[in-house]
Amino acid sequence: MGVTGARLPRTNPPFFHRYNPPAMGKQSDALFQRAQQVIPGGVNSPVRAFRGVGGTPLFIEQALGARIFDVDNLQYIDCVGSWGPMILGHGHRYVVEAVKKAATRGFSFGAPTAGEVELAEMVIQAVPSIEMLRLVSSGTEATMSALRLARAATGRKKIIKFDGGYHGHVDSLLVKAGSGGATFNVPDSAGVPKEVAELTISVAYNDLEAVRAVISDDVAAIIVEPVAGNMGCVPPREGFLQGLRKICDDSGALLILDEVMTGFRVAYGGAQSLYNVTPDITTLGKVIGGGMPIGAYGGKKKLMELVSPLGPMYQAGTLSGNPIAVAAGKATLGVLKNSAIYSDLEERSAEFEAGVRAAAEKHGVPITFNRVGSMWTLFFTDGPVFDFESANKSNREKFARFFHLMLGEGVYLPPSQLEAAFFSAAHAKKDILQLIERADRSLKKVAWEFEK
Ligand SMILES: *Cc1c(COP(=O)(O)O)cnc(C)c1O
Repeated sequence: MGVTGARLPRTNPPFFHRYNPPAMGKQSDALFQRAQQVIPGGVNSPVRAFRGVGGTPLFIEQALGARIFDVDNLQYIDCVGSWGPMILGHGHRYVVEAVKKAATRGFSFGAPTAGEVELAEMVIQAVPSIEMLRLVSSGTEATMSALRLARAATGRKKIIKFDGGYHGHVDSLLVKAGSGGATFNVPDSAGVPKEVAELTISVAYNDLEAVRAVISDDVAAIIVEPVAGNMGCVPPREGFLQGLRKICDDSGALLILDEVMTGFRVAYGGAQSLYNVTPDITTLGKVIGGGMPIGAYGGKKKLMELVSPLGPMYQAGTLSGNPIAVAAGKATLGVLKNSAIYSDLEERSAEFEAGVRAAAEKHGVPITFNRVGSMWTLFFTDGPVFDFESANKSNREKFARFFHLMLGEGVYLPPSQLEAAFFSAAHAKKDILQLIERADRSLKKVAWEFEK
């Protein structure tokens, strides 16, 4: 397909096949010991700590294409992709070139640049519901600002979200949140004032009746992941997103599609193009920065004109529209736009899904495989998985065992049952075949140990 652009390093030939899974490499172990002294849990984002699966997290040295290398020089096929951004694979040469060029011009100016305008134009062209957007530095900032905008526009206070939905670590969005909180069974964070949490109503994903039961004229917005990815991958049921649109239209609440994960991931136009639903506000992040810190929120001009300095809603950022992040984002979207990446990703991902389903069936391991394009989760439950409660029926011990068996096989999966995995354009057909073989062997062992 000619877009992977990544070569394996010629020096330090990597190897894998570590048959003692939970015993991590020496360097990772040593670094983790040091890290725990100076960083909470040794990590700068909770799920990285491997607490969902046990063991020591890998410290990463470098990554290229579909491969990631740890500090012990062990090689893995990467199915995390930095939790979504790396859709082109690691070190794509166009993106690397763009970043290098931008870096030589200066890291940050705190003044407008042409790149910001170009990235905004690319996003607006790809996502018709966005007529104007504001760049920020993370997905969290994007959703936080989207809520403020919805409240500013409606004069209302309350927010509806979904159990297991994660929208960054915004105070009011940590109520029954997915991702790390769910992984550690503490979905409601300490430190969020009761008065703030009370403004958030959380109901079951894919349950329109539950939304209808709580909607009122005090609801400013419904915020939803159009394909949930932070309780594992959970696709919307047919009509769910359209139903939310209708409820918003009837009640005067705004619909916020949080496409931080799905934007430019499940389709170039995001999940909203795939499911044909038009939000009032879209939040973006991850892929639009190609691995650099970025976020964005946007919508109709009339709405975005409420944002300072045009309007009364204040929102700002010293590093917003950072030129290097913008360069990485522009290069990434440029490659995505001019290629057949999404159909290739669909084909490879479908092949993987079929292979894993066949292996699980052969070995008698009950699983549910949820997938939208290159975003997927293998749940250890006979399912179906359509919301947080059903995702939580998964057997986490089986998942943890499978995770470590796969790690021993040289496959880096998200270290939590409740996170989505990702393929990139750098995952070649032979990688998919290797992954299926390794999953087959690992599922066979899981079957021996659990399914007697
Ligand atoms: C990752 C994610 C966020 C938060 O983005 P950060 O850049 O981690 O702050 C918000 N919403 C969704 C759907 C996400 O997947």
